[in-house]
Amino acid sequence: MNASEFRRRGKEMVDYVANYLEGIESRLVYPDVEPGYLRPLIPSSAPEEPETYEDIIGDIERIIMPGVTHWNSPYFFAYFPTANSYPSMLADMLCGAISCIGFSWAASPACTELETVMLDWLGKMLRLPDAFLAGNAGMGGGVIQGSASEATLVALLAARTKVIRRLQAASPELTQAAIMEKLVAYASDQAHSSVERAGLIGGVRMKLIPSDSNFAMRASALREALERDKAAGLIPFFVVATLGTTNCCSFDSLLEVGPICNQEEMWLHIDAAYAGSAFICPEFRHLLDGVEFADSFNFNPHKWLLVNFDCSAMW
Ligand SMILES: *Cc1c(COP(=O)(O)O)cnc(C)c1O
Repeated sequence: MNASEFRRRGKEMVDYVANYLEGIESRLVYPDVEPGYLRPLIPSSAPEEPETYEDIIGDIERIIMPGVTHWNSPYFFAYFPTANSYPSMLADMLCGAISCIGFSWAASPACTELETVMLDWLGKMLRLPDAFLAGNAGMGGGVIQGSASEATLVALLAARTKVIRRLQAASPELTQAAIMEKLVAYASDQAHSSVERAGLIGGVRMKLIPSDSNFAMRASALREALERDKAAGLIPFFVVATLGTTNCCSFDSLLEVGPICNQEEMWLHIDAAYAGSAFICPEFRHLLDGVEFADSFNFNPHKWLLVNFDCSAMW
């Protein structure tokens, strides 16, 4: 495809996308296919000869769309909300053109700096404490992760490293394996399944604290588990508090759980994946009170702020 064909096909694609979104409510929101539906419909290996562009595009309606769950359909009420918008899709196109890779400042200065400044904007909109912002020369600052699941895992791995270093500084003979064997993390029994999975990937125990009658993790239940585990020789090091649980939008009691985490030197990570966007509204900001006790905070603009997957903001 050369530049002149790209201009033509690009305009066709924009029309296809606009038609798709304008007509999305006439599509079956949940596909009527069985697992494995796709494989018989396409060749078993990559073709030796090219196919025409029209044939490939034709396959989208013939093969792909029948297997798509239309998350942005007005009839979609499953899992959790996900977002997109025309500006967000245009921006994705530009990112594709630049091939934006930002693993270091020099890898693309504008990429790194725009991310840092935008995450400060977002942080200020949420009224995060100053310590979370990069400012001009701050220690804080946010980064974009792919998903809230990834953010929880990153926080858990950081917390794990931090506690291992702290304990080894005090007792250099302790091996990493000896410490890891004793580490224990906590989350409420209402936490997202990715929290339990972060424990599995991170190779540490993850204990689910029974929530109260409002589906909230409270100080008393956390204390009880904590004391029992410490008495058994375990090392509590990490707590995930959820603000807006996926199942029912309950809120763990940050003002109760936060001080315990600080006293016990446990890393407190806040998972506010979908409800987080609401804290921008002054009338909902009180639900974030206690964030000052947290070591890390995450929410998903890709759920409620009109940007398409994947954009998970982590401070
Ligand atoms: C949606 C959700 C997640 C997972 O979000 P991903 O970005 O898809 O990983 C985690 N926690 C909560 C509370 C959620 O609502």
